[in-house]
Amino acid sequence: MKFNKQKSPHAEKEFGGTLGATCIPVFLPLTVLYLLCVCRSPAASVLQWPPVLPPTAQLWDPLAPVLILGWMALQSFFYLLPMGKVSEGMVLKDGSRLKYPINGFHALCVTAVLLTLSLWLGMPLGYLFELLLPLAVCAIGVSFLLSLYLYICSFWAPHHALAQGGNTGNPLYDFFMGRELNPRIGSFDLKYFCELRPGLIGWVVINLGMLMKEVELRDSASLAMILVNSFQLLYVADALWNEEAVLTTMDIVHDGFGFMLVFGDLAWVPFTYSLQAAFLVVHPQSLSLLGATAIFTLNGAGYYIFRKSNSQKNQFRRDPTHPSVANLETIATATGKRLLVSGWWGLVRHPNYLGDLLMALAWSLPCGFNHLLPYFYVVYFTILLIHREARDERHCRAKYGLAWDSYCRRVPYRIFPYIY
Ligand code: NDP
Repeated sequence: MKFNKQKSPHAEKEFGGTLGATCIPVFLPLTVLYLLCVCRSPAASVLQWPPVLPPTAQLWDPLAPVLILGWMALQSFFYLLPMGKVSEGMVLKDGSRLKYPINGFHALCVTAVLLTLSLWLGMPLGYLFELLLPLAVCAIGVSFLLSLYLYICSFWAPHHALAQGGNTGNPLYDFFMGRELNPRIGSFDLKYFCELRPGLIGWVVINLGMLMKEVELRDSASLAMILVNSFQLLYVADALWNEEAVLTTMDIVHDGFGFMLVFGDLAWVPFTYSLQAAFLVVHPQSLSLLGATAIFTLNGAGYYIFRKSNSQKNQFRRDPTHPSVANLETIATATGKRLLVSGWWGLVRHPNYLGDLLMALAWSLPCGFNHLLPYFYVVYFTILLIHREARDERHCRAKYGLAWDSYCRRVPYRIFPYIY
């Protein structure tokens, strides 16, 4: 295959351009390690000065690379097993469609069976609490290595396989954004695999490890820990149950596979999304039944909005004539695709983000109101989704032009009705 140096130097740069692409790969890994240290410190204060820093010995354990690589290998094996159906992705630039195995939920179930068996045989899953820092260090290392591999290999990819962004010719920016859209080894799709499997399933395994640690320390799991574990397990199980929907998301359809997504999938998600559970190990919280019911209801409402709106759009994009969406009001666009202007997508322009944010709040509330750290996820996620919404609007305006402007006039609020 030809060496591909295709460049789009004038393409608009995102994430703060070259400066952002240089600073983020340094700043975010350090943030992960810092948050993990703070979360196990007695004060658990993110604003503490001087900051909590771990002794170097706590950053490394020879077991960590074995566990991280073993975990990636195990999940790759489940990915390759002939379980579930095979689905086609969106149409690519060359008119073709890639095939994807829809077996993420199977992988979760098989993992659950293996874990149950291992726990029954006496595996000390609570030890994950001690290993969190070395595991995060290894996941960060793997993210850098994989991103470098992807960057180098992308020069042999055909022109039509390159992503729209990430091909500016600036190595730092392209390494960060990702040059190739759907890098594969044979039929093994690296981006699709990383998007929902090792990190997401890893997140709930870490959560379970924190629960086991709590049981070791205090003989039983607290209500707060059970709620955090159950809410987040529901979120992960839902993502894997609806795995096919990921094929229409921005990550798969638009973004190249570079450090931004690799690090997000393999290091950021499992180690920062599990902060609430890790926090509860060291800072137990008592929760009244009334409080727990209110939090449970909030999570349920968020989940309902999130699931219904995502399914509605997914159904509409896959088959606009399906009875569940055929009666919704839509507007035409010059591309031939239509935009929903009623139903969930007539309430705000990103109802799915609204539901996601309500759930994020419900995951933090069981940790009480005395610390900022468990709310890190809500704050970060609000910033991420506001930024993501702005990116998506830019793409949609470029795609749909006047039709998008008229959608915005019909549905003036972006995420929060009457607020934003
Ligand atoms: P969305 O699922 O919101 O998809 C955006 C796309 O939907 C647009 O580009 C457009 O694509 C289409 N669209 C937008 N408006 C309409 C409309 N009115 N009618 C029909 N189609 C429309 O994108 P994301 O990938 O950002 O989010 C997917 C889910 O993942 C969300 O629930 C989000 O909260 C969640 N998420 C979670 C993260 C986490 O870390 N937990 C991180 C990021 C996302 P087109 O017209 O080309 O089809």
